[in-house]
Amino acid sequence: MHRFLFVCCLVAALLTAWAGGNAARAGMLTLTFDDGLASVYAHAFPILKKYGIPATTGIIAARLKNADDDFMNVAQVRELTQGGWEVASHGLTHKRPVDIPEGYAQEPLKNCRNVKGSETVFEAKYAYEELAGLTEDGRRLKELDNEKDVKSTPGSYYYDELIGEVVFRPLDPDDVEDGTIRAVSYQREMVESREVLAELGFPARTYITPHNYWTTHMRDLSRSLYDQVVTGGDDGNFPGRTDRWWIKRHVVHTADSAQTIIDLTKKVVVDEDGWLVLCLHGVGDDVGWEPWSAANLEAFAAWIAKNGVATVTIAEGARRYFQDKGVARGKG
Ligand SMILES: [Zn+2]
Repeated sequence: MHRFLFVCCLVAALLTAWAGGNAARAGMLTLTFDDGLASVYAHAFPILKKYGIPATTGIIAARLKNADDDFMNVAQVRELTQGGWEVASHGLTHKRPVDIPEGYAQEPLKNCRNVKGSETVFEAKYAYEELAGLTEDGRRLKELDNEKDVKSTPGSYYYDELIGEVVFRPLDPDDVEDGTIRAVSYQREMVESREVLAELGFPARTYITPHNYWTTHMRDLSRSLYDQVVTGGDDGNFPGRTDRWWIKRHVVHTADSAQTIIDLTKKVVVDEDGWLVLCLHGVGDDVGWEPWSAANLEAFAAWIAKNGVATVTIAEGARRYFQDKGVARGKG
């Protein structure tokens, strides 16, 4: 009887351990490349392709729309997705939630008044560090470099950071009343970046927080917009300890050797059976924040392939890790 109970307990314990381990499906690695820099297409993509490693790239939606040589263009991003990469939103203009209004409720510019001697030009105090955009009745106004040009350009604005004042010339002066002129909020960044990417052919289900900056309020807002969110934290993710809208990433710095990142991967993915998400930027040139050398990425990718480390995109990793239990909404 004693022995029978013991065997039962042992079997139950083993089943629990097996089911628990299986449910978590940890032991994965994800490479993410923030900002959508041109070097990701030029250097990171061919290296990872050679070893059959997929990745996720965080695209700044407004940058992709207004093509710039330092960043990937639509055709290049499309090629990444055709090669198994995931496109995530990295915001509309790459702002932090503390630097612009948090939500729609904080967007209206209050106390707009005529600039002295002008019927068509207005000014208003603006209480935030940065301005992500100004809208008039839902239409975007054009940002200009100085007040003088604004005076001669209907539908434009200039933000003087030093004195915290916005000067704007609306399309229709009758539009100027409290609530009509709005400063783009972080909530709008999360919503519109997704819309812009979808219009360009990249339906993003993952959000990557710009500057690895995140708040509990934004986490709560993001739950109805994205299937998952990744941010900073310099840690791995472990079963039972990870919030799907606050997945941690470890930042790879320029000074990190390939061996440093290999050792970290061994520790988190192999020894501790965790999900390690690495945050990289550019590769193989000096554009952008904390670029990594192509030689480092090559050495790391070769080690990944040789050791059969499971590599997934964020979307795929989250599907496995959370078994899709965290997503209440359908796809769309
Ligand atoms: Zn970024």
